[in-house]
Amino acid sequence: MSRIIGIDLGTSTTEAAVFVDGKPQMIRNFDNEIVTPSAVGVDENGSWVAGARAAAQYLLMPEKTAIEIKRKIGTEERFSIGKRSYSAVELSAKLLEYVRDYASEELGEDITRAVISVPAYFNDTQRKETIYAARLCGLDVERIINEPTAAALSYGLEHLEEESHILVYDLGGGTFDVTLLEMFDGVLDVKASAGDNQLGGKDFDERLIEELLQRFEKKNGVSPRNNRRAMSRIRREAEKCKITLSAKTECRILLAALMDGKNGPLAMEEVVTRAEFEELTKDLIARTHHPIDVVLKDARLSAAELDRIILVGGSTRMPAVRADLAAYLKKEPEAAVDPDFAVAQGAAIQAALLEGQLDSEAGDLMITDVNPYTLGVRCSDGYDDHNIMSVIIPRNVTIPVSRTNRYWTMHPGQTQIKVEIYQGESSRASENHFLGQYMLEGIPYNPIATEEVEITFTYDVNGILETQAKCVSNGEAASMRIDMMKDIPDLENWKDSQLAENYRALIRRAERRMKKETGEKADDLAILVKDLKYAILNEDKDEAEDAAAKLATALENE
Ligand code: ADP
Ligand code: MG
Repeated sequence: MSRIIGIDLGTSTTEAAVFVDGKPQMIRNFDNEIVTPSAVGVDENGSWVAGARAAAQYLLMPEKTAIEIKRKIGTEERFSIGKRSYSAVELSAKLLEYVRDYASEELGEDITRAVISVPAYFNDTQRKETIYAARLCGLDVERIINEPTAAALSYGLEHLEEESHILVYDLGGGTFDVTLLEMFDGVLDVKASAGDNQLGGKDFDERLIEELLQRFEKKNGVSPRNNRRAMSRIRREAEKCKITLSAKTECRILLAALMDGKNGPLAMEEVVTRAEFEELTKDLIARTHHPIDVVLKDARLSAAELDRIILVGGSTRMPAVRADLAAYLKKEPEAAVDPDFAVAQGAAIQAALLEGQLDSEAGDLMITDVNPYTLGVRCSDGYDDHNIMSVIIPRNVTIPVSRTNRYWTMHPGQTQIKVEIYQGESSRASENHFLGQYMLEGIPYNPIATEEVEITFTYDVNGILETQAKCVSNGEAASMRIDMMKDIPDLENWKDSQLAENYRALIRRAERRMKKETGEKADDLAILVKDLKYAILNEDKDEAEDAAAKLATALENE
């Protein structure tokens, strides 16, 4: 078996590290660089290119190049490259293949195993797709680690003796994550995490691009907005300007022959000051405050109780970010970790823990984790509302954890209960992510609300959710085990099932109706459609027939 490397697969840049001689070491790519742009494409000869070469050709052939692939992970959206279209999984695989190749070359062995980091706010589909992408290029993912946890690990390794509350603030290219950890006796305990997966350096670029376009349009009366090539030159220049403004107080932009005007080629020539840039983007920085408040509240801490603030991600190099954070939390951020490398280094430390190079039992280092999403079951209030998300394990509790709730029968003579498991923050069960369902049968025939059922959820660090339902009076029980890394059903895959053909029309009709309905009716339809899709997905003929009959009746009754 090969060594396990750590990979920070970022929206804009990707880095890899390996644990050697007691510490993580960054791995250099084929250009002898540590930072690899997260870009892939097809060159003039039709061959795949990745990294710096792909980023460079984006300027000339944007139609044959993909960037910001990670933003589309977990969605149906596709990238078109040349004449074909590709999923984010396929393109992430191309990027990871590049990493695997340069790591194998640099380390002199065939690398087949990795720990890959993802934003704390990635949902299960996004995590699973990251694992698929790795598998496509021959990398086994030994563990997915949250980026802020990885960053804290890279800080923790050097500061084992410290007792502190650490806030990790990660503003990257496309995502913002904030996590609160507690370190005590070499144990790193994640207390809470939150974020905004649509906030990052690219949004700062966008503001600058818009400013430059407006200035250009005002001066020249024409616009490059529909000129793809001109737009990619502006985009690149805007990012460069933003980075310059982190070090200098003004930046000059010159793009010769940007587009044709009435009297020949037009250039873009501008000066942007840091003050202007900060004015254009201050609301973006302000958007980081809410997630900070959320983690403090979830961890029941005040800002004054924070001991360390760790900055991660290229965008934290902007002076305004540092200044804003110091003002908002009344504490200066640390310079203890490298914002560009900390996540990959932490992933390599996690790899060393898995390999046994670092031993948490021997007091080297240990991490615990939190459950990133609320887990619960759908229940009824006993009156008209049958779509309540009843929380069993709340978000952000430390795992492993086991919790039990009690429920009562809601019909006279009810002898069975359907346990529907959901994950998510909505108080409406059907708006959350459906994880699975099963029946508990054999409840004694008795009046309403006299039989009690205990539902227990147990969730561990490996992402395994065990759920059990037990009738208190006679001990009848049923259970289900869900591997959150693998088994999350994607109900939309019902279309691939053998049974799909029989129910296509019915589901289409129900979904059209759902769009018109609101409140209870919409909820009821959503639940019936879910039952049918789940039965189809599981290729359960009897269940599907049963669910379809119920759905058809509900549609007729409207
Ligand atoms: P990700 O983890 O999302 O791939 P990174 O942490 O690599 O992101 O950060 C990339 C972002 O950081 C880009 O938007 C880039 O423009 C920005 N960035 C890098 N260096 C600087 C700098 N010196 N000043 C401002 N922004 C920077
Ligand atoms: Mg990052």
